[in-house]
Amino acid sequence: MRKIFIAGNWKMNLLKSSATALVQQLMDSLKGISNVDVAVCPPSVYLGDLAATLRGSAIGLGAQNVYSKPDGAYTGELSCAMLQDVGCQYVILGHSERRAIFGETDALVNEKLKAVLAAGLTPIVCIGETLEEREAGRTTDVVRGQCRGSLAGLTEEQMKKTVLAYEPVWAIGTGKTATPAQAEEVHADIRALLSTLFSPSTAEHVIIQYGGSVKADNALELLGQPNIDGALVGGASLKSDSFTAIVQAAAAIKK
Ligand code: PEP
Repeated sequence: MRKIFIAGNWKMNLLKSSATALVQQLMDSLKGISNVDVAVCPPSVYLGDLAATLRGSAIGLGAQNVYSKPDGAYTGELSCAMLQDVGCQYVILGHSERRAIFGETDALVNEKLKAVLAAGLTPIVCIGETLEEREAGRTTDVVRGQCRGSLAGLTEEQMKKTVLAYEPVWAIGTGKTATPAQAEEVHADIRALLSTLFSPSTAEHVIIQYGGSVKADNALELLGQPNIDGALVGGASLKSDSFTAIVQAAAAIKK
């Protein structure tokens, strides 16, 4: 039985006061929901402050990126130990914006993933095809290739602790959502691949989130699909009302 996991990716948005206010509103509006795991991933500079605000709350805290090395001359980067030190539990890895704008490869994501797992943080590894790749009929090949590369060398136990987020690039921040059938097809294929790369029981454990313009009005149908176990939410995670409505939709689902 996989527990639905909804995470908000705030990207490079909000300032300290608005970030704190949002977290306070969510602590209030999500009180009493215990059948859904929830996390927010604010800009790293606010992680420490928000960890203090969130103390005692069931809402988890995640970073949007990390570097794989433990310390040293890596100007501008943060280590897993630093994220843990300020109260982080999750880390998003290989988001399509990091891949497209900052040149992150599957090999780098794999390096980071191993460091994150070794540190005891929970990784959220993003994969997904571009519109061009989808239109060329390459979705399965691309997504399977990203999974193989990003997840290479993981043990069964490490794979069970890894969250995947299928995020078709053409649906991120565009208002275009994959239909529930389109998303479910890819999620089912990812699970089938995990079953061959690891084992059927490991594949059954893994949480696979969907991401790409998830909103209150499409969440229920997407999250109702058998292989969609949660959502990675960008734009709609920046407002308490819209993020709360998505979590409430998740809480209403019985799988
Ligand atoms: C994301 O950034 O991971 C995302 C899915 O964004 P949006 O919900 O805005 O499409």
